[in-house]
Amino acid sequence: MRTTMAALLLLPLVAYPVSGQSEATLKVFISVDMEGITGLVNGEETSRTGKDYEYFRRIMTAETNAAIEGAAAAGAADILVRDSHGSARNILPDMLDQRARLLRDWSGGPQGMMEGLDESFDAVVFIGYHAKAGTADAILDHTWSGSVTDVSVNGVSLPEAGFNALIAGHYDVPVVFVAGDRAICEQAEALFGTVETVAVKEGIGAAAISLHPEIAQQMIRTGVERALRNIDDYRPYKMDAPYTLVLKLKTDAAVYNGSFYPGATRTGDWELTYTGGEVMDVVLAFSWMMR
Ligand SMILES: [Zn+2]
Repeated sequence: MRTTMAALLLLPLVAYPVSGQSEATLKVFISVDMEGITGLVNGEETSRTGKDYEYFRRIMTAETNAAIEGAAAAGAADILVRDSHGSARNILPDMLDQRARLLRDWSGGPQGMMEGLDESFDAVVFIGYHAKAGTADAILDHTWSGSVTDVSVNGVSLPEAGFNALIAGHYDVPVVFVAGDRAICEQAEALFGTVETVAVKEGIGAAAISLHPEIAQQMIRTGVERALRNIDDYRPYKMDAPYTLVLKLKTDAAVYNGSFYPGATRTGDWELTYTGGEVMDVVLAFSWMMR
């Protein structure tokens, strides 16, 4: 009995067999949004007070587990899951695969959906992501908040996945995998070039045809594993300095508020522009200007 208990206690230290030597230290960051989760089509399902929210947060947790399983199979020894939607308190902690650590709630800092990421990581995975505001045949497309209609950096209009990939690029970490609806998979491929994607649903206007959740989970598991086994094929997403952020907003109050950020200028009725020498200058500016 005592021996069994001791073995159980030791299990977490030895539970990750690794095939390749170089993979032994893989450290993976998984940012999980909710709008791109399999089957989910309506804002009611992403809202803590919505009727089917409890159901879809289980699917969200299961899709996160599929990514963790794929990462572990490829030799990841350290996996941080960042709950990135709404309250950032959606993933069910006791249902989450024990091989991952879970980051919940918002710190108040500028890194937001990428909070917890730094240069010590080897790869970034996005689960449940959605297309940028205004995308055709996309499910719950938006860019951060209802008051933002477009975010661009150096002339490139970015979905949340693109802006977050720039943060990862700042730390020299590539985005290797994206799961969400077909629209965000296409936007990610167009921006990043080489990236593994799984389209779990396809929009028809605001409706969607979805995979079965278990099929989606199998595809996420194998896709994340394949991406991480070929990690040398992926490049961090970077742009050349300086970085010019153009933010288009929906209301006069939002534009007026954002114009007070030091260095921000109003460049149109609905538009603010800010230029910074470092990616993180723009990330900080954006986090204040969209408030
Ligand atoms: Zn979200």
